[in-house]
Amino acid sequence: MDNREIENKLTSLEGIGEKIAKEIIDIVNLGYSPKLEKLQKELPQNLKEGQQQKFLLGLALPLANEYIKILNKCTGVKKVEIVGEVRRRKEIVSSIDLLLILDRPLEDKISFIGKFGIPVNIYLSSTEKIGYNKIIHTGSEKHLELLKELGLTAREGTEEEVYSSLGLEYIPPYLREGRQEILLAKERMLPKLISIGNIKGDLHIHTNYSDGLSPMEDLAKEAIRLGYQYIAITDHSQSLKIAKGLTKERIIKQWKEIDNLQKSLNIRILKGIEVDILSDGSLDFDDDFLAQFDVVVASVHSNFKQGKGEMTSRIIKAIQNPHVDIIGHLTGRLLLKRNPYELDIEEIFQVAKNEKIAFEINSSPDRLDLKTEHLWKAKKLGIKIAINTDSHSRIELANIILGVGVAQRGYLEEKDIINCWEIEELERYLRG
Ligand SMILES: [Zn+2]
Ligand SMILES: [Zn+2]
Repeated sequence: MDNREIENKLTSLEGIGEKIAKEIIDIVNLGYSPKLEKLQKELPQNLKEGQQQKFLLGLALPLANEYIKILNKCTGVKKVEIVGEVRRRKEIVSSIDLLLILDRPLEDKISFIGKFGIPVNIYLSSTEKIGYNKIIHTGSEKHLELLKELGLTAREGTEEEVYSSLGLEYIPPYLREGRQEILLAKERMLPKLISIGNIKGDLHIHTNYSDGLSPMEDLAKEAIRLGYQYIAITDHSQSLKIAKGLTKERIIKQWKEIDNLQKSLNIRILKGIEVDILSDGSLDFDDDFLAQFDVVVASVHSNFKQGKGEMTSRIIKAIQNPHVDIIGHLTGRLLLKRNPYELDIEEIFQVAKNEKIAFEINSSPDRLDLKTEHLWKAKKLGIKIAINTDSHSRIELANIILGVGVAQRGYLEEKDIINCWEIEELERYLRG
């Protein structure tokens, strides 16, 4: 639809009127953050021109929230909610879907191409059928097929009431993939999923000492604003020259700055490092030095092309180092851009289950690494997870919502995630 078609369609609908029509036209042309624009521009051409375009959740989710802010201001609109793949927190989505709830019986759909070329669908719903409409527009198709087998029909009520009428407990959108959620909901055995409010800190953050943009103080203050109890400052280690990796001397200088800042701010600042796992699996600092950090994140940043066996033993060696607490972005994938490196995840997890090690869900919009399937395996083996942002600027601390989405899709609960723990419990774990 072009702008005029949308406007005509909208104004012809009873209860919508010119104001909403104008607002929707406005959001089609909304301006957006340069960082996200850059991410989208870097996507391969074939993805941009292909029939079924794909978009990062990290791009679609904030955009959907911007649309909602605008639409919520319109008279006649009772509520606007995210539905579809974005609500299910799929890492890659093909559209933004919104449900516009009105206080009159009206069912319709408005579609247009939004910012970055993302198709946007706005579904209209009456208040009475809100639950049913949220369910069918959230999907997934497989989930809906299973619900239809149980007798799903267009009835009134909330989502909870619709699920309950089918003999099921409420199924959170993140689990609606047609896997095992229906069986679990029948037995009232769904996990009590982690939510963003459970996050108590962020354990992977870069400052302007290495390749980050923000000074430590700005990051700490933003973390306080987010309600965190703690953060870990984890700049790059010396051999990662391209990212201004820190020498021992500069780290000791940073520790002094942390000690000073700690006196004036009401948040625990952990002394951390993102230490490079070198090609042979050894680490970029000696053990005596690593022992002095509160948190050690170990990650691969070089030599991605190693064979499966070599890369697997490289990472296992790092896991077995007693000073390493977290393995950062395990598979190295960059969504829509770079495949994960060759790895035997099964073998890695078999070793890890007997070690004191957590694996990271990296919340960068283009990583979201680990992925859902890995989390199911990890959870079964009792392996702990840390949800980190790997922030390189203050604003990126908000990306935690993306990592939380991955954890939710992975059936994870508060107890599985070390940065959902109180600071005392976390410090005991890190020291242990
Ligand atoms: Zn890294
Ligand atoms: Zn990092």
